[in-house]
Amino acid sequence: MRILVFNAGSSSLKFGVFDGDLQILKGSFDRFGNDGCDQSLAVGNAAPERVRATHSDIGTAIAAVPGLLAEKAVAGLQAVGHRLAHGGTEFTGPALIDDAVLARIEALTPLAPLHNPAMIRALQLARDLWPDLPQVAVFDTSFHLSNPARATTYAVPSAWRAVGLRRFGFHGTSHRYVAQRAAEALGRPLVELRIISMHLGNGASACAVQYGASIDSSMGMTPLEGLVMGTRSGDIDPGAFGFLHRELGLDIPAIEAALYGESGLKALAGSADMRDVEAQAADGNTEAQLAITLYAYRARKYLGAYAAAMGGVDAIVFTGGIGENSASMRRRICDGLQFMGLMLDEDLNRSPDLSDRAAPRIHAQNSRVAVMVTETAEQLMIARDVEALLGRRTVTALAIPISVSGRHVHLSQQSVEALFGPGYRLTEGAPLRQPGNWVAEERVTLQGPKGCLHHVAILGPLRPRTQIEVSRTDSFALGIDAPVRNSGQLDNTPPVRLIGPHGHEDSTGLIIAARHVHTNPTDAAVMGLVDGDMVAIAVKSDDGRGLTFGGTLIRVAPGALTEMHLDTDEANAAGIDRRADGTLAANVHATPLP
Ligand code: AMP
Repeated sequence: MRILVFNAGSSSLKFGVFDGDLQILKGSFDRFGNDGCDQSLAVGNAAPERVRATHSDIGTAIAAVPGLLAEKAVAGLQAVGHRLAHGGTEFTGPALIDDAVLARIEALTPLAPLHNPAMIRALQLARDLWPDLPQVAVFDTSFHLSNPARATTYAVPSAWRAVGLRRFGFHGTSHRYVAQRAAEALGRPLVELRIISMHLGNGASACAVQYGASIDSSMGMTPLEGLVMGTRSGDIDPGAFGFLHRELGLDIPAIEAALYGESGLKALAGSADMRDVEAQAADGNTEAQLAITLYAYRARKYLGAYAAAMGGVDAIVFTGGIGENSASMRRRICDGLQFMGLMLDEDLNRSPDLSDRAAPRIHAQNSRVAVMVTETAEQLMIARDVEALLGRRTVTALAIPISVSGRHVHLSQQSVEALFGPGYRLTEGAPLRQPGNWVAEERVTLQGPKGCLHHVAILGPLRPRTQIEVSRTDSFALGIDAPVRNSGQLDNTPPVRLIGPHGHEDSTGLIIAARHVHTNPTDAAVMGLVDGDMVAIAVKSDDGRGLTFGGTLIRVAPGALTEMHLDTDEANAAGIDRRADGTLAANVHATPLP
């Protein structure tokens, strides 16, 4: 599929044409002024042609793109993809643009007043220029919508949170790409890895990618939070606002403008460009030296924090202009992490070959943590998303029955024997709706440091590993912090005591089951879904409240009956009493995990 991708910033426009994963054209416009703008255009792998073009703003630059495509004999476009900075909480994945979707995107502008407007303008212009082509928006924020509430919530008054103040995270398309690329290069499934992605460019952010899903990232409500950046401060005490107002008489817009445009490397060392800062530091400039040490220190703190958040780390990936090019910055960030088993290889780190989207390792043979470098490829990822979305349109919005799961356990034979005695066999009771599954007549007790849950159901058949599924409320009753996990993803899960009539067992495997939809290949095809998709499901309830559940995993298996599994907390939140149906939220899909 031939796809044109736009990435519009407030003062620049990048675009590319992709055929599958092959980039056949790469262009950009920037440094707009009264006399025009800098234009760069490259066909395939050829060197870019750079000229000063006459376009004085992004609008006229976009209008010139059809002419440039014709000049380079690039024809046969089938779709247009757009990078959008902010998709709020509702765009869990790429969205096919129509008037209604565009209106929903426009309504999110207050969340990203500096970034979304230029991108929306590019989208509108492209719709006028290519009215017959499908246009798809891909959002920087979508990847992070899997972050748990503990990572997205600020501890601030509820009225502030009610108007939408929360952490979102950005650079999602880049983090998603480099995490996938790292897993590919390691030859391991992404869903088995804990990866920290370090996007160190002009803007910079770190992201904890646990088993394929983002669980935390360093940018917050806005792209200001987190790492030190070219002109942005990163983390700063919000008390600074009051202090600066009292000491310097600065108002909020002035402080905000300075935190975005006059801070970071620029404030510390007089240049936002890491190449200049490194050169000055090597010449003995102490301000540049401080900028570099502070930059690396902040990045290393995030690496440590995310390793702790994920209970370990399998791979760290560097990307972005600084992450890709600065061997000394990579070294500074990684030095001191030997306690985590991270060892760099000096030679590999010095000059990794990143051509052809390679993701070379730069860690030593004896390093427990893989460290890799790769060029980010946000436009390629957008093109892939567009193709995936358009290739899998929903044919029919099936009604998806909701099944509410109470707390229950799946036991291994070893656990059965520990709880009920050697050689014990569970008594098969009532069948469950999913073929082959049943409730045992026996029950167990769960015990944690805070309390017990009695008469907990056991579901059959037996499993190779014991898994205990509770709701968030149950986990507080037990007093144990259970992670939200997909069934079977039990590494680094906490232990809980299981008590049966014969004895007890302290078993890991305590989880809050991530919501999911079971379906079969036939229904999945009708809904335009594949195994591993993350979708939003809108649920209506008898009391009229209902809820749309983002981040819902699709699990396709032959013979499965289509139904959505929620736990009791989720069902209560949606006002679901006994029976309810859900439907796929329109026009939004997230791409499947590879
Ligand atoms: P990006 O926003 O990803 O294009 O990254 C821009 C940043 O990468 C700027 O701070 C550049 O100075 C930095 N950068 C590019 N090349 C190098 C290099 N060879 N060494 C250090 N920093 C670099």
